This record gives sequence, structure tokens and C-alpha cells, in this order.
Amino acid sequence: MHSLETHRIVLAMLLALTAALANVAGGSLVARRVWSRHYLKYFIALGAGFMLATAMLEMIPESVRLRAPAGSVFFDSSEIVFLLVLGGYFLVHFFEHALAPHFHFGEETHREEISHAHASSAALLGLAIHSFFDGVAIASGLLVSAWLGGVIFMAIILHKMPEGFTVASLMIASGRGRAAALLSSAILGAATLLGVGLMFVLHRTVADALPVTAGVTLYVAASDLIPEVNREPGVWVAVLVFLGVAMLLALKALANA
Ligand SMILES: [Zn+2]
Ligand SMILES: [Zn+2]
Repeated sequence: MHSLETHRIVLAMLLALTAALANVAGGSLVARRVWSRHYLKYFIALGAGFMLATAMLEMIPESVRLRAPAGSVFFDSSEIVFLLVLGGYFLVHFFEHALAPHFHFGEETHREEISHAHASSAALLGLAIHSFFDGVAIASGLLVSAWLGGVIFMAIILHKMPEGFTVASLMIASGRGRAAALLSSAILGAATLLGVGLMFVLHRTVADALPVTAGVTLYVAASDLIPEVNREPGVWVAVLVFLGVAMLLALKALANA
């Protein structure tokens, strides 16, 4: 294998490992009364803005550029890109919200909803599938360029601690212990590592994988994170979403300077 590719795989694995550790760090905050828990909502807000900007200004335009102009009988090439984005969006909707009886991003306190036999397992499965695509997104980005991989990694890492916290609080609310809570956050981390690893094996499919992960990113940002932002009283958490967008724009300006 070419040395540059080996270099990228090592980088991808390091980034995925960092994301996985952030999952476990988030999970470890549950069942503890520590000040850092209160900061998770800031990560949710910054993450939502940064993820939306990354999906719309980087992942989708790059997906359009990657695709050869030839379409199929029914769809032209840009329609195929947006079909894949739509597919990624509804993939998360299906596994997090259609298959799982109860799920929302944030601290789980609804013991009634989550105590049903398979509710927490289904939510864990949904989050694991979403985390798998977090990994596919990082690897797909790195396969295109160091810049794209870098900004996608930032978009992912910003929501990894709240994600680990979410799944751990789900386990606690469903009556399981702290060990199960930590294990579930580690499962999400492992799913991210698996996504990175598998994407490097299937690197030829990057033109299809990137738009799917753009759709996943849109769902996580707009349909999982933004509702949590909107539950917060006051305007400051909502304002942080714009700071997340501004961060991506500033990075883009710096990179093009
Ligand atoms: Zn709930
Ligand atoms: Zn995620």
C-alpha cells in the first residue's frame, strides 16, 4: 500500500480513537454530580451549528464534485447525490426514532418510557448505527482531503461527549447500573472505530458514502441536537449555534487565505 495511504489510516484511527474516548468521557459523567455536566449543552449547541455548516458547505458540495456527471434513467447526477443525503437522513430517523420506542438526545429522565423491555436496547442500537456513520464520515472526509477529514472530525467530536452521556443516562433510567452505562458509551466508541475501519476497506465507495454521512450529520444536528438547544431557557445556548457556524466559516477563510 502507498505510504500516504498508510499515513492516512493511522491518522484516521487516531481521530476515531479520540472520538471514541470522548464517548466514554461523556458516559462517565452520568451518575455523578459534577460541574462539567452543565457544559454538555454548550457542546450540543456549538456542535449543531458546526455540523450543519460542515454538512451544507463542505460534505454536500464535495459529494457533488466527486460524482461523475452521468446520471441514470430517472435521476441526474446531482439528484443522485441528494437522494443519498436524504437516505442518510432517514436512516437515522428510522433507527433512532421509528425502531426505538423512545429516544431524544440529552439526559434521559423518563423512566416510564424507557423501562419497557427493549426500549433502551433499541435506543442503544439506534445510537450505535448513528455512531458507526460518524466513523464512516471521518474516514470518507480523510479519503477526499486532510481538510475535509479535519472539519468532519471537529463536527463529530463536538457532539461525542453529549452522545456518550445520552446513552449512559438511558441505561441508568432503564434501571441498569453504572457499569452498563459506561459499557454502552464504549459500544458507541467502538461503533465509530468500526465505521472508520470499514470505510478504509471500502474506500472505492467514498462518492456514495460521503453524501449518506452528510445526511446522517444533518439529522443529528437539526433533528437530534437543535431540539435540545431549544429546550434550554434563555437565548445564550441558542446564540452558541451561530458561533458553531461562524467557527466553520472562520476555518474556511483561514484555509483559503
Ligand atoms: Zn426521555
Ligand atoms: Zn454521533
